[in-house]
Amino acid sequence: MNSSGIIFDIKKFAVHDGPGIRTTVFLKGCPLRCAWCHNPEGIACEPEIMVFADRCIRGCRDCLASCPQGALKKVRGVIRLDRGLCDGCGACAEICPAEALQSAGRTVSVPEIMEEAARDIPFYKESGGGVTFSGGEPLSQPAFLRGLLLACRAQGIHASVDTSGHAPFSLFEELLPLVDLFLYDLKLIDDERHRRYTGISNRLILENLKKLSLSGAPLAVRVPLIPGVNDADNDLRALADFCASLPGHHPLHLLPYHRGYVAKRLRLGLDAVLPDTAPPSSELQERAGKVFARNGSTVIIGG
Ligand code: SF4
Ligand code: SF4
Repeated sequence: MNSSGIIFDIKKFAVHDGPGIRTTVFLKGCPLRCAWCHNPEGIACEPEIMVFADRCIRGCRDCLASCPQGALKKVRGVIRLDRGLCDGCGACAEICPAEALQSAGRTVSVPEIMEEAARDIPFYKESGGGVTFSGGEPLSQPAFLRGLLLACRAQGIHASVDTSGHAPFSLFEELLPLVDLFLYDLKLIDDERHRRYTGISNRLILENLKKLSLSGAPLAVRVPLIPGVNDADNDLRALADFCASLPGHHPLHLLPYHRGYVAKRLRLGLDAVLPDTAPPSSELQERAGKVFARNGSTVIIGG
């Protein structure tokens, strides 16, 4: 069993990633490239540096000599990173006194994570919560995820997996006995537009969702609501019809798009992909909720 993997964050007292109070562990690596991804620092498999240029101290040059690749320089008093040279070693982030350079991604062991997660067991018990493995795509580190799920099972901690659904179904089957709840993301039914906005086909994702539902796995479907991407009547109806066609009855979470990811993308040296898209209005959220509810889904707005 692989007892270590790469994560980019641990969020304590999370209340939108499954039932109750939870600890959410964010694993690195994802096969999708969703234009609206709110965790762009989770997409790459390897650690990478996030640059908070506004925090850089004008007269400071501490990090420059720490970089074995010569990837850093100061331009008009502000730090600049050449990502073509950077190998993500993290030496600069360790030395920066202003946290202007931060490493997104660190190798951790299963026992380290479980030690952190186990501290909140009283809160999980009180609230019906537990631990959620998110990302990125947690199934992109299967051995590590399996180790974490086994450890949760051994400690009696409720375990959820938040997934894009893009993984071999054999992997879902293998993990099924260890997962108390799948949070399954569903974006678009139209495959051509799914490819345009996420970089890959949705065929495997839809097939896996059907099979998972058929297997009786406990799951909730999560649909991000993104104006201009999947808020047209025909898109919402297609999503609602697909959910209604699933063998099991699963709660449906509508997740309103938000723009928090834009600043993160800039810190990673990436352009904003949907720069002009505003969050959905409350009218749109209500309209979308009604489309799903009409098909018999139990709709929850939010995580
Ligand atoms: S992560 Fe390593 S290679 Fe990249 S800029 Fe920092 S010190 Fe240089
Ligand atoms: S160590 Fe931090 S504050 Fe100093 S120059 Fe580098 S990024 Fe700026």
